[in-house]
Amino acid sequence: MSSLDEFARSKLTALEAQHLKRTLQETVREDGLWVVRDGRRMLSFSCNDYLNLTHHPAVKRAAAEAAETWGAGAGASRLVTGNHPLLEELERRLATLKGTEACCVFGSGYLANAGIIPVIVGEGDLLLVDELCHACLWAGSQLSRARIQVFRHNDVGHAEEILGRHRAGRRHALIVTDGVFSMDGDLAPLKELAALARRHDAWLMSDDAHGLGVLGGGRGSAAALAAPVDLQMGTLSKAVGSYGGYVCASQPVVDLLKTRARTLIYSTGLPPASVAAALAALDIIETDRELTARPLAKAQAFTRACNLPLAASPIVPVVLGEPLAALEASALLECEGFLVTPIRPPTVPEGTARLRLAFTAGHPDGEVARLASIVRERILEQ
Ligand SMILES: *Cc1c(COP(=O)(O)O)cnc(C)c1O
Repeated sequence: MSSLDEFARSKLTALEAQHLKRTLQETVREDGLWVVRDGRRMLSFSCNDYLNLTHHPAVKRAAAEAAETWGAGAGASRLVTGNHPLLEELERRLATLKGTEACCVFGSGYLANAGIIPVIVGEGDLLLVDELCHACLWAGSQLSRARIQVFRHNDVGHAEEILGRHRAGRRHALIVTDGVFSMDGDLAPLKELAALARRHDAWLMSDDAHGLGVLGGGRGSAAALAAPVDLQMGTLSKAVGSYGGYVCASQPVVDLLKTRARTLIYSTGLPPASVAAALAALDIIETDRELTARPLAKAQAFTRACNLPLAASPIVPVVLGEPLAALEASALLECEGFLVTPIRPPTVPEGTARLRLAFTAGHPDGEVARLASIVRERILEQ
């Protein structure tokens, strides 16, 4: 065996012993709700397709027609020939929805975060990051080479203390947080963070991957909390049902990103089909208030039935502790016809392995009630 293979084997063995090895499982999504895995058909509570738009007829048709007319791929970076007119239209629509001057669309949410942060702060600058921020905010933070200071989850006082201690010696300061935390479903105190940023001449960036389309009448977490956020980043791959990332901000900030963000410049533009699908999805999000309100309502019905804290977003964590407990709970739910993927470290902190439930507009109320009674009686009350 080569030393490389030996290295990989020993790493895998160690992960397996801790129940932390991950494997890909073939999954067919029949529509926005039902998945088939190993021949078993299950109702999914693990897709971020909050409005079930991945399979909406108008969204699929827009993607198919765009591919037929303009081809399967963009052909080059947006800075070269990949800047299809549909992208400019999508940016205008997103900026309008978010109430900002401008918008920049990236290849994915991960690429957006990895590209944005290093443009805004660099060596010698201060970067405050909530401890539970998404992995790609950490990636962007590390790439920036700014001085990273971690603040306790949603603890504005702690962030203030850090700014008080470190702001003076630094040129620029940026506060970075999820708008909706992806594994806990709670919201960041965006209004308080914005006020804090203003007091210390710092800037605020939020990652609204799980807010767009489902909070604030579809406009996201900053709108829901009426908070002025300088950089509102998000993804087109969750409630929007397509693929791609974006950031909404002022015109000068967007102009700067378009000329400097390496993940925009050195990565191919989105396929026209993804852009057209996102546009069709926005048509629905902008007009169907009843639909955008439904995922949160379903999540709240579940938390009420389980005596859990009232859901603040469509994401509900059921924290169980050890990885094995999460794996067993997930297996139990699979037998009952529910797909609920267990979430383990390092995605979540040690000792907080959990089930993470994502509620969508189309989940039947009867099934939500059945899931709640199983979680309450056979998982939480063990
Ligand atoms: C999913 C997610 C991303 C990444 O978005 P993609 O478009 O899937 O790359 C970024 N931030 C958060 C909080 C997410 O949950």
